[in-house]
Amino acid sequence: MNIIDQLIAGYHRFRDGYYKENRERLVELAHSGQSPKVGVIACCDSRVDPAVITDSTTGDLFVIRNVANLVPPCEGEGVWHGTSAALEFAVCGLEVEHLIVLGHSQCGGIRSLIENQETQQENKFIASWMSIASEARERAYKDFHTVDQQAQACELDAIQISLRNLKTFPWILDRMQQNKLQLHGWHYNIVSGDLLRLDPDTGNFVPL
Ligand SMILES: [Zn+2]
Repeated sequence: MNIIDQLIAGYHRFRDGYYKENRERLVELAHSGQSPKVGVIACCDSRVDPAVITDSTTGDLFVIRNVANLVPPCEGEGVWHGTSAALEFAVCGLEVEHLIVLGHSQCGGIRSLIENQETQQENKFIASWMSIASEARERAYKDFHTVDQQAQACELDAIQISLRNLKTFPWILDRMQQNKLQLHGWHYNIVSGDLLRLDPDTGNFVPL
């Protein structure tokens, strides 16, 4: 069976199983609209599915996925702001109460940043996007000597940069100040399955 046939077979299992069993709730969600309490900024990586990791179900999470789970700073220039548009909808439209930046180990985007691939023409879009976290790379270069260590440090540091950038959006800062919105930084290890959380008081990542 080729991969597309596998997906179609999976769809039929879903339709006869999950959809049928949850039909009432799914129809209710369709009519009343979604109202997730949590927005997640996650990586596109196929090994890091926020709903799977948190055992969540349809309607629970508003998920924004991009390369290396980065949040750009709020900026007026440019037109194609996919992540910022999704954030605007999550925060101003759906009024989520939590935003989680979910990083992960073995992140290919972070790896490309550490390996300094800006000069490679085929990585033009990725390099430009990853420059959001370039200061994390500089710190990792300074503090660590192996590529693996640098990448790990950069993954954690990039989460903190994204959290900082979230606060540059005025509607996020407003809601935080009104205690209507909380930010969280998490890091998932795809090998061990461990999940770390950023402790805002110490700036350290601690196990959950
Ligand atoms: Zn990644």
